[in-house]
Amino acid sequence: MMRLIGLRKGGARTYARRYLYPKRGIGEIFERMSDKMIGAGGELVLGARVMGLERFRERVVGVRYQQDGVERHLACDAVISTLALPLTSKMLADPAHPLPTQVRDAGARLRFRAIRLVNVLLDMPEVSPHTWMYVSEPHYLMSRIQEPRQRSPYAAPPGKTSLMLEIPCDVGDATWTAPDESLYARCMSDLKSLGFHDVERATLEYFSSYVEEGYPIYHLDYQRDRDCVLAFTSETKNLISCGRQGAFRYIFMDTAMEMGLAAARSIIEHGVLKDTARRQIANLRSERGLVETQALTA
Ligand SMILES: Cc1cc2nc3c(=O)[nH]c(=O)nc-3n(C[C@H](O)[C@H](O)[C@H](O)COP(=O)(O)OP(=O)(O)OC[C@H]3O[C@@H](n4cnc5c(N)ncnc54)[C@H](O)[C@@H]3O)c2cc1C
Repeated sequence: MMRLIGLRKGGARTYARRYLYPKRGIGEIFERMSDKMIGAGGELVLGARVMGLERFRERVVGVRYQQDGVERHLACDAVISTLALPLTSKMLADPAHPLPTQVRDAGARLRFRAIRLVNVLLDMPEVSPHTWMYVSEPHYLMSRIQEPRQRSPYAAPPGKTSLMLEIPCDVGDATWTAPDESLYARCMSDLKSLGFHDVERATLEYFSSYVEEGYPIYHLDYQRDRDCVLAFTSETKNLISCGRQGAFRYIFMDTAMEMGLAAARSIIEHGVLKDTARRQIANLRSERGLVETQALTA
């Protein structure tokens, strides 16, 4: 932090100095993908909550979901799931095939840390030259300050900027449930003590957004619990649980996308998820020494 506010020499320490980023934000990638998919005759169901998986022998044959308060059903040949791993394992159980005690207990130990984001729109051209700044001192509420405009100038109108203040918490705790006003006031006080005095004065608007399963919590022995639940989900031959929550791994977006591509390729090329693919995809890029093991805070 001392480096970031100019009190220590040497420039900011960072794990990424140069990267490509979509002009209008990361969502552009997924908007393009959905356009292509729909253009090719695919169907995309949005605003739906998956409620259950229907199993017949060792296969998933249908997905139950809720949309606009109505429960619906979708027949399927294969499932690539990015739901949280413990949730997927619970959905594979039914009264005739209850979850084995060992899997249930291991799943209960795989927990996630939530994130509440306080987003502040500002009538000023720039807060700092940095895209993100980590705040590691525990007496500050936020753990990271992001300025989206520094990723792309199109992230804010000309002459204006914004901040995303990331606050780690647990679903339902005092931070998660605090009114916007009190959290904003606390963040402004923290920012002032970090040297950012103009932010409060320049504020146009603020609002919160919430991520329930922000960070997998790596408890001691979590690998054993993860392996136990993954082995159980792998018994279902046409299902792969992958992605950050689905593989219960601290991966970044690029690895999550690679997992999805590998799973889709396996289905296209072989008609099903190959046994080897199901085993390998959730562990993709877990070789030692990758950037994700050095930067544990994305
Ligand atoms: C605060 C924060 C900042 C990050 N910054 C970066 C970054 O700068 N660069 C980077 O590469 N990565 C970053 N990451 C990591 C990145 O977001 C993840 O690696 C990536 O999004 C994982 O993709 P995914 O598809 O596995 O999961 P997600 O993108 O989390 O998608 C899973 C989706 O499933 C939905 N879902 C859950 N349960 C259900 C249900 N029952 N029914 C229907 N839908 C459900 C969730 O709402 C969510 O939309 C960040 C993560 C966080 C939390």
